Amino acid sequence: MRILFVSSEVAPYSKTGGLADVSSALPATLKKRGHEILVVTPRYGQIDVATWDLRRRRLKLTISIKGKTIQGGILDGQSPEGVPIAFVDQPKYFERQGLYGENGQDYTDNDERFAFLCHAALETCIMSGFSPDVIHLNDWQTAPIAALVQHIYRDKPEINSAGTLLTIHNLGYQGLFPPEAIMSLGLDWQLFTPSTMEFFGKLSFLKAGLVFADKLTTVSPTYAQEIQTSDMGFGLDGILKDRAEDLRGILNGANYRDWDPTHDAFIASPFSMQDLSGKTVCKADLQQKMGLPMNHDAAIIGCISRLSDQKGIDLFLKKATELLDLDCQFVFLGEGQKDIEDSLDKLAFEHPHRLAFHRGYNEELAHVIQAGSDMLLVPSRYEPCGLTQIYALRYGTVPIVRAVGGLDDTIDDADDEFGTGFKFRDADSSQLLAAIKRALTRYSDRVGWRRLMESGMSMDFSWDLPARRYEAVYKEIRNLRK
Ligand code: ADP
Repeated sequence: MRILFVSSEVAPYSKTGGLADVSSALPATLKKRGHEILVVTPRYGQIDVATWDLRRRRLKLTISIKGKTIQGGILDGQSPEGVPIAFVDQPKYFERQGLYGENGQDYTDNDERFAFLCHAALETCIMSGFSPDVIHLNDWQTAPIAALVQHIYRDKPEINSAGTLLTIHNLGYQGLFPPEAIMSLGLDWQLFTPSTMEFFGKLSFLKAGLVFADKLTTVSPTYAQEIQTSDMGFGLDGILKDRAEDLRGILNGANYRDWDPTHDAFIASPFSMQDLSGKTVCKADLQQKMGLPMNHDAAIIGCISRLSDQKGIDLFLKKATELLDLDCQFVFLGEGQKDIEDSLDKLAFEHPHRLAFHRGYNEELAHVIQAGSDMLLVPSRYEPCGLTQIYALRYGTVPIVRAVGGLDDTIDDADDEFGTGFKFRDADSSQLLAAIKRALTRYSDRVGWRRLMESGMSMDFSWDLPARRYEAVYKEIRNLRK
């Protein structure tokens, strides 16, 4: 099949979260399975032309945004797995410090920036004579393509027979803009209605995809159900319920090329289920790097997370006094909301022997923490899939998670047969504390703990199965269009 995959972030070129990992691994797996795939993504400022050997096409993009003619270019690259990637080059829009904003503020012209990306993806197909069977969209940044295909591009032979799939990686981010943003997309005002793209007086980029895409997926089966409820539907549960027949949950895979302790270039020593001696080296390395006491017996509980309300770090903070009294060490890596960053900084300052916090985004340290920790904490209020707990399993780092969304789908409780981690049910700090205590009690039983590590390390979350599930949805879409 011919697939156009459009995403606002693709690892290793650009990344703020799990979307980047998926946009790298899924196309690579689909290519391996024999599909013809083209990825389109912005060329952000930090994506260096020389480092990635990008080649500029002679063709120019000319796109009208709010009545202004904006020109851009395409830089062709190839992922490490040989997937062709067209980087949309528009320096005014994309050569900035952040992907979506800076200092906690979204860029005010995000509607224009991502409208440009949406048009550029379709124009690239037209310019290169690439006629996709399916256009795979990801989150609000590219969701409007579903509306553009239906209302602007249907008479183009390259786009004419294409169907669309929107994958929701996080319903909490919807791309809400003032109504005039409809002109950034070049769509008719008639589409600004509650049954199409309007969301309580604003224009919703995400809703354009929810309404107009042929099929919808989200990144775990449980999250697919949760988003149809008023508790977790962010006001979009009604439309998601209406489209329940077209909505599937496909659990994300893990990219074991980058996340496997047997060949992870970032960690102090490789290790495997058969030989765990390297993990001891990694633990000491983590303690040393984070300035924690070099105590092998103390369990290390790691946490690698965007620091937003979604991630439930406040549940940890509420019980900090009791938690920091336990016989263990905590390591946090993350950036985001200033109030959470400041609270973690304060705890690290007051309890330097118990808690270390690295504020910022640091790919290498994320691997060092996965390898050196004994447990990984993911206390999310909601979690579409979550990748850090899946990676943790492979590193023998036992997840402690809230039983929600993809966390519930990927982790089985240690009290059950073949358990792989510790779960707590509600977004409640006492339940979090109890789960951590339960994990620490189990940790002191070395034989039991080793069994738990092995259960996790032997789990296989590779992308082959999810890729086959996406293929099945692509086929349905192709059949619809026929
Ligand atoms: P989300 O997409 O909601 O942020 P996921 O668990 O799906 O959550 O994906 C998070 C990804 O981002 C993982 O690959 C994780 O290692 C990475 N990550 C998150 N925060 C940081 C950070 N501060 N530094 C490095 N990597 C991070």
